Amino acid sequence: MMDWTKIVLAIAIMAVIGGLLGLMLAVADKKLAVKVDERVENVTKLLPGVNCGACGYPGCAGLANALVGGEVNKVSACRVAKPDAKEKIKEYMNSTPGPDGKITKVDL
Ligand code: SF4
Repeated sequence: MMDWTKIVLAIAIMAVIGGLLGLMLAVADKKLAVKVDERVENVTKLLPGVNCGACGYPGCAGLANALVGGEVNKVSACRVAKPDAKEKIKEYMNSTPGPDGKITKVDL
């Protein structure tokens, strides 16, 4: 004969453990969240997207990351972009703060 109390107790224990693990995941998600700098994605979109590597980076996203991070401060590092695209990138970078509120200045 089955002992229903043991089955109900096991289900209750599993539900409590599941709830606690879910709570821990929710807290970890908030505490360990990585802030994404949207400027990298936006500058990547403004670059030609040729991914030729002439700038010294493996692709346009690499140069965008370097511009946003301050590793490179000349938009002309991209050999392919047209002058109007370079100007747009310069205007965007010099007017848009990152998640820390700081602006990374770049030049043509
Ligand atoms: S030179 Fe310009 S087009 Fe070529 S990979 Fe670098 S950013 Fe992209």
